[in-house]
Amino acid sequence: MRTEQNFLIKKAIGLLRELIATPSFSSEEDMTAQLLENWFHEFDIPYKRVNNNVYAFNKYFDKDKPTLLLNSHHDTVKPNGAYTKDPFDPKIIDGKLFGLGSNDAGGCLVSLIATFTYFYESENLNHNLIIAATAEEESSGGKGLNSLLSILPKIDVAIVGEPTQMNLAIAEKGLVIFDAIVNGTPSHAAHPNNNNAIYNTIEVLEWFKNYRFPKTSEVLGEVKLTVTQINGGSQHNVVPANVNLVIDVRV
Ligand SMILES: [Zn+2]
Repeated sequence: MRTEQNFLIKKAIGLLRELIATPSFSSEEDMTAQLLENWFHEFDIPYKRVNNNVYAFNKYFDKDKPTLLLNSHHDTVKPNGAYTKDPFDPKIIDGKLFGLGSNDAGGCLVSLIATFTYFYESENLNHNLIIAATAEEESSGGKGLNSLLSILPKIDVAIVGEPTQMNLAIAEKGLVIFDAIVNGTPSHAAHPNNNNAIYNTIEVLEWFKNYRFPKTSEVLGEVKLTVTQINGGSQHNVVPANVNLVIDVRV
């Protein structure tokens, strides 16, 4: 199989189109994992697949050399309702390829795969290369990159593909998710009740809205806290015992 740059670019765009046209919601990436297997098969590169993660080592992998991991993910979130185009129809318009996952993270992923393929047979690299196309990134699931790390050899440095508008990002925020329960007194709506969990939630939401974390990162800025889910109540004439909140915190 040829590995000239122009050929690889064409192949990579072709792979990206196939990835877009193939649904791959987190933990349902079987079919895109198969497309990735096909790539390595076609280029005669030995690879392994664990769940929906596909990975490969450069031909002259040498355990005495440091190892560079190239990683990105092939799962996507579900398309949001504001899509004006068919999210599964890869279309190039004005030199841009549109479709679900074209940017996050298909573009990065196929670029890293093409790069790996370009260097795969190089004999005198001063480092090893591992490509890992991984799953369950968007859901922070248990069968993604984290499940591979104990299988892969020691990684010295990694390039992770994510949309950063072509800027080199040297740090990344962490994520903590909190579940909160606002309590109250359950009752029939017709009865007096000055401890309504839904009304109690107003003050709690105000608190979250206005809270500022004391520490700020020089590189990443403020910690961002956002209430992203709220659930409470089951029927019109019952004051619920509690309201459930989910709070997303980017630390
Ligand atoms: Zn991503």
